[in-house]
Amino acid sequence: MAENTDVVVIGGGYAGVMAANRLTQRDDVTVTLINPRPTFVERIRLHQLVGGSDDAVVDYAKILADRVRLTVDTVTRIDAAGRHVELASGGTVGYDYLIYAVGSGSAHP
Ligand SMILES: Cc1cc2nc3c(=O)[nH]c(=O)nc-3n(C[C@H](O)[C@H](O)[C@H](O)COP(=O)(O)OP(=O)(O)OC[C@H]3O[C@@H](n4cnc5c(N)ncnc54)[C@H](O)[C@@H]3O)c2cc1C
Repeated sequence: MAENTDVVVIGGGYAGVMAANRLTQRDDVTVTLINPRPTFVERIRLHQLVGGSDDAVVDYAKILADRVRLTVDTVTRIDAAGRHVELASGGTVGYDYLIYAVGSGSAHP
């Protein structure tokens, strides 16, 4: 029997969701996606949020493959040597492979 591989995806944006869903095509991979919000923000609909015609969010249950485990939390530290991430809630999640999909942002001063 093939050995199972644990993959952790940090960030449930467009890139993280796509990567997580595609990885579930492999039966020997367990995928955990970590994102601070329980809902996916549809940035391409943010103008509709401003206009009042859409709330620009989608429940992850609608867009994540059934085999993707969602953890609603923020990753505060990556321990690459120890192969685990630390969460704001205090827990840790181990991995064999890590996908870093936290998007981009301006640097803090
Ligand atoms: C206001 C706005 C409007 C836009 N409109 C359009 C548009 O109309 N058309 C278009 O093509 N592009 C648009 N873009 C650009 C598009 O949104 C980005 O290119 C796209 O979101 C990038 O996807 P991503 O998955 O790399 O990152 P993101 O979508 O930014 O996703 C990153 C995810 O990682 C999570 N994250 C960050 N840090 C952590 C952490 N430490 N632990 C856990 N999770 C974390 C974030 O909460 C987020 O959910 C827009 C961007 C913005 C800001």
